[in-house]
Amino acid sequence: VAFVQRGASAFPIEGFADVGAVLRAGERGFEAAENAVGGDPEPLVVGDDAVLRPVLDPGSVICVGLNYRRHIEEMGREMPEQPTLFSKPSRSLTDPFAPIPMPRASTRLDYEGEMAVVIGAPGRDVAAENAWDHVAGLAVFNDISVRDFQARTSQWFAGKAWEGSSPWGPAVVTFDSRPDFDSMDLCVTVNGEERQRACVADLVFGLEELIEDVSRIFTLQPGDLIATGTPGGVGMADGRYLQPGDLVEVEVDGLGKISNRVI
Ligand code: MG
Repeated sequence: VAFVQRGASAFPIEGFADVGAVLRAGERGFEAAENAVGGDPEPLVVGDDAVLRPVLDPGSVICVGLNYRRHIEEMGREMPEQPTLFSKPSRSLTDPFAPIPMPRASTRLDYEGEMAVVIGAPGRDVAAENAWDHVAGLAVFNDISVRDFQARTSQWFAGKAWEGSSPWGPAVVTFDSRPDFDSMDLCVTVNGEERQRACVADLVFGLEELIEDVSRIFTLQPGDLIATGTPGGVGMADGRYLQPGDLVEVEVDGLGKISNRVI
């Protein structure tokens, strides 16, 4: 099942504002969702700019830096022993086909194609082997990064928090059981040219380990997001940053595609 949101006024599940509200309502939400979509969910039209991000205001957005080997090498970093965690405010997120504003104060706007996990059930101190019980589904994420601001200090926040910059969606794709990550590639193109490609099974810290690690720090809540990191090939690696007019697209096999123009 793919939960898709197509404009707040048209959200098809009566009594709920968005997928986040459905997830937060637990069983009652899933029942309402099942009744609303039946066996015939509305098909997703890629490129429809009315499609909103599935969770409009996630409580927590946790991102993982340096989690694919080639990206760690291109950034000139050591292989990490622990995941590098940072967070984005929910206001830094945007819709799966929305334009991305080029910051006037920056010349180094960059993309980071990622797979994101959407939390479906609350969890504290979740063991890795139980992690999948807390997952609602997976989505595509672009961790838009303003590199000149990211590099100002050792804390990355200033480069990661720009308002309305990071698109995700287009759906929360649910699975009956853990998908076969070995068969899922993540691909990023800029103006149709491939810039990033990796198998999502190549994560240094996998989805289960990340849920274990983050839930040791605080309680994960339905609608929270964990963006699992980006592979090699970011613009910073060869100085090819995003420019106004560029079309950046992130696709993960089985999860769909997000498509955003820099303005
Ligand atoms: Mg990232």
